[in-house]
Amino acid sequence: MKQFATCTTSWDDGYPADQHIAELLAKYGLTGTFYIPIENSRPVMATRKIRELGETFEVGAHTTHHVVLTEVSKPSAENEIRESKKRLEDIVGNPCDTFCFPKGRFSHYHLDMIRRAGFRSARTVELLSTQFPIQRAGIHLIPTTVQAKSHHWSAYVKNCGKRLSFKSLGNLILHARSQNWAETACSMLQVVARQGGVFHLWGHSWEIEEQKQWPELECVLREMQRLKSVAPCVPNSRLASSLSQAGTAGSTESPQEGKPPCARER
Ligand SMILES: [Zn+2]
Repeated sequence: MKQFATCTTSWDDGYPADQHIAELLAKYGLTGTFYIPIENSRPVMATRKIRELGETFEVGAHTTHHVVLTEVSKPSAENEIRESKKRLEDIVGNPCDTFCFPKGRFSHYHLDMIRRAGFRSARTVELLSTQFPIQRAGIHLIPTTVQAKSHHWSAYVKNCGKRLSFKSLGNLILHARSQNWAETACSMLQVVARQGGVFHLWGHSWEIEEQKQWPELECVLREMQRLKSVAPCVPNSRLASSLSQAGTAGSTESPQEGKPPCARER
């Protein structure tokens, strides 16, 4: 029986160019979650823009001041977590159920803080994963598949090694040999559409802008649109509720096989 297939996207830091990401997601009928700190060393969207974004897309917390939780005291970390939820809910006017760790760094006790603050899920930066969220300390931990940024293969090896994920290492060997992230993304998306699991694209709009990766991003979003009937796109927090469907058959349609559309001509 084919495993349920789904996909999602997430965008960190609330940089003003997130609005362009939102436009592209809308253009291709896709969705995702925007993790926004209240203040950051980089510009953050104006409050009014965050509210507008929250009318269409899920908005998640990313601490109040984009603080790396492992680098501050426990009381500061707890305050950053609690306050970010409250401030975002005041802005957006909806419950904020999902959290993202700045720079992906956290310790096990931060999960207790996140649960106590009322979050239900937290996104990590585990790369090349196609797994559904796992529950730890009462929180659904949401891994990621591909970052919208070119990585040298050694960065993937480091990421997989740090998290002892042998399945991700297998994905590295099969799908991430290219330094073109969009090619890796389309290849992984096709695997999920064929075999089931989660395809999770994430990134920073400031990085996409700096690296001039908008055409590559649009190429991946176009492929996500093409495979939408096989792997529907949901916000991050919906992945947790998809858990009950994991392991059951999704669409019976099969994706069209072929070369990843974002592959460079060699
Ligand atoms: Zn961040």
